[in-house]
Amino acid sequence: MSRKDVIIIGAGLAGIAAAWTLQKRGHKVVVLEANDGPALEASFANAGALTPSEPEPWNAPGVHWQLITSLFDPHAAMKLRLRPLPGLISWGLRFLRNSTRKRYEAATRANFALSTYSARLTLEAGKALGLAFDNLPNGTLKICRDQAGLDATIEAAKLLEAEGMRYHVLDSKQTVEREPQLASVADKLAGSVLYPDDQSGDARQYITALAEAAAADGVEFEYNTPVTDLLDRAGRVVGVYTQSEVLEVDAVILTAGQASWQLMKPLGLHLPVRPVKGYSITLDMSGLNSRPAVPVVDEAMHAIATPMGDRLRVAGTAEIAGTDKTVRRDRIDNLKQMLRSLYPDFADQILTGDLKEWTGLRPMSADGRPFIGQTRAKGLWLSCGHGHLGWTQAMGSAALLADLLDGEETKIDPAPFAADRI
Ligand SMILES: Cc1cc2nc3c(=O)[nH]c(=O)nc-3n(C[C@H](O)[C@H](O)[C@H](O)COP(=O)(O)OP(=O)(O)OC[C@H]3O[C@@H](n4cnc5c(N)ncnc54)[C@H](O)[C@@H]3O)c2cc1C
Repeated sequence: MSRKDVIIIGAGLAGIAAAWTLQKRGHKVVVLEANDGPALEASFANAGALTPSEPEPWNAPGVHWQLITSLFDPHAAMKLRLRPLPGLISWGLRFLRNSTRKRYEAATRANFALSTYSARLTLEAGKALGLAFDNLPNGTLKICRDQAGLDATIEAAKLLEAEGMRYHVLDSKQTVEREPQLASVADKLAGSVLYPDDQSGDARQYITALAEAAAADGVEFEYNTPVTDLLDRAGRVVGVYTQSEVLEVDAVILTAGQASWQLMKPLGLHLPVRPVKGYSITLDMSGLNSRPAVPVVDEAMHAIATPMGDRLRVAGTAEIAGTDKTVRRDRIDNLKQMLRSLYPDFADQILTGDLKEWTGLRPMSADGRPFIGQTRAKGLWLSCGHGHLGWTQAMGSAALLADLLDGEETKIDPAPFAADRI
């Protein structure tokens, strides 16, 4: 393997994980980031779930109907807005085309392999570097409010049993034994599924600390440095333009999240990754006598409540709304409502305390799988399009990318994530 000069565009979860990994393998890495610090876009305040158990793409069979009805339902878990639609037609049609049962299940299996690999690497690096990120090794609990929901959840888990996913089906009494804070809503639950191998933690804390470790080892981070264009010569990408200079390198790695497609367009490459907006609220739990100890997923809301040390983060919901980053009251209210429905005993107490609202744009690929590897334009590499799984899959994607860049054997099958599939 030869030492390469590498530029990484974007310092979110994907970019920093790639920077740290490539630097450790001996490459010379410069990260160019438009913002004035790391992890200030989609990676800022996500739900923190390291969940191999959630590999399903969001364009599940039946998503067409879900999106149409969402137009008339302000509280829909996945909400389509009409205004940005004209700019999303091509991506949107691909998103719908990929919702067949066969493609959905193939993407689910591929994501599970990457997520499992990645979560292990995340925890290993966290331990080796002594990173503090409010890591909780307690699994996740997916609650189901009716029998049909529970049956569907069990069915989905069975699909991955042969691939090694462990899960336990709990009735409402066992659910409360696992998470006593759910006691007062037990009679409203059909049951739950516990995924013991999942973990959780503050993604931003982790990745910011990883950026510091990478910088200490020699990675250069240049903030306030948007890349304006890629430099290509005879079909090969050999560098980038910033507002003030042209930089030439051996490899350019695009990890610019939902904005990645814009830099590729002038090359005639149409990356089917577009923003799907989500929200979070972070609440102070320090005044509570007893607190939840397990992240609880409410599938019906595409949302999760994750304990993070003294904080509780409630995050999720999906809105196809273009790049608009307005924090909408109705979406925040959805999260508050979910919190009240889970923890009526103390929800209002913490909702009246310190509360931080946030919205972020998930980089969602049309076929539910991230893009990892070299594109058809030689010299240009991708790690982007991780959608709702960017924290879970960041470190594994970086390792896969590094193996491909170094020409080494990969630890998981790279084919489902091939960056030249566009
Ligand atoms: C509400 C919500 C909850 C979520 N919960 C979870 C969860 O529980 N578990 C999980 O696994 N995932 C979760 N995710 C998904 C995860 O947060 C994202 O997939 C992940 O943050 C994407 O990381 P990224 O590095 O690809 O993109 P980003 O974090 O957006 O980083 C891209 C970076 O590129 C920079 N950039 C863009 N264009 C340029 C340019 N031209 N020049 C220089 N820099 C540029 C941006 O400024 C940005 O810093 C959640 C997301 C949301 C919104």
